[in-house]
Amino acid sequence: MSKKAERQLSRRDFLRGVGALTGALTLESVTGSRVEASETEVAPDAVGVLIDLTRCTGCRTCEAACKAAHGFPPPDGGETSLSADTLTYVDVRENVEGADGPLHVKRQCMHCVHPACASACTVGALHKTPEGPVTYNAGKCIGCRYCQYACPFGVPAFQWEETLGLIAKCDFCINRLEEGQQPACVSDCPTGALKFGKRRALLREAAARMDTHPDRYLNHVYGEHEAGGTSMLYLSPARFEDLGFPELGSQPIPRRAEFVMKQTPMVALTVATAASGLCWLRTRREESGACVEAGKKERTKR
Ligand code: SF4
Ligand code: SF4
Ligand code: SF4
Repeated sequence: MSKKAERQLSRRDFLRGVGALTGALTLESVTGSRVEASETEVAPDAVGVLIDLTRCTGCRTCEAACKAAHGFPPPDGGETSLSADTLTYVDVRENVEGADGPLHVKRQCMHCVHPACASACTVGALHKTPEGPVTYNAGKCIGCRYCQYACPFGVPAFQWEETLGLIAKCDFCINRLEEGQQPACVSDCPTGALKFGKRRALLREAAARMDTHPDRYLNHVYGEHEAGGTSMLYLSPARFEDLGFPELGSQPIPRRAEFVMKQTPMVALTVATAASGLCWLRTRREESGACVEAGKKERTKR
């Protein structure tokens, strides 16, 4: 690896550590506070996925489909959390009140209508598209992990095993959507537990299912209003808080992240200045070291 590349890595590692630290300090300081938000706006054509827990058998075909679509190794059957190469997994919930047997809850990014992750990201690596998906641009990401602290669903995963770890999360199979296909998990689900479509149509369908089978469903679509709404919508026979879903109310969360970011420009400026200064000093030291080495080699040749 060239000296220049090494210097770039060092500076990035440093900034990443500092970013993570300041993220922890600043976002944690306002955790739990509710910031005023404006009315939620959802594009009429925005898409979503209806996840019907009464139809999910826990076969985990969706996990395998997601991994295959993203070029990850196949699942070993033991996925219990999201990670850098597990963008979705099926969470098994036993002994839940209101359910006849275990409930299988597919977890992934919720593709929030107002994503806190995107609001917290200072470099624009996360982006809410008008069509619904919240996309991630690894080329912009500096690995500061602000998005991890901001997300109310604990979704963004960090590539801890990589030297230059970045963020990983469900991308709504945006490449497949652009080609007119459905998300891989939806396409391969054999039971119809996952349904892709326009968010508004999915909400109508959810209402119809609840009306038709009031004995089967709780009268609640998780994601219709939570945190200002999400693109992933859940139907369940059991209370969502008993299934590990956070109770968020209907206010969008991003305002909280924006508020924090606006309160910390001096912290950010100080950190950036210190990082640049240290990087400059380190660069000078490495360059002079490189000159000494070059000089030694030159003298050896003679
Ligand atoms: S669930 Fe988390 S990572 Fe996904 S869009 Fe919402 S805030 Fe972002
Ligand atoms: S939408 Fe795509 S990326 Fe997201 S969980 Fe499904 S298969 Fe994985
Ligand atoms: S593929 Fe469908 S039925 Fe199987 S675990 Fe995933 S969501 Fe449930």
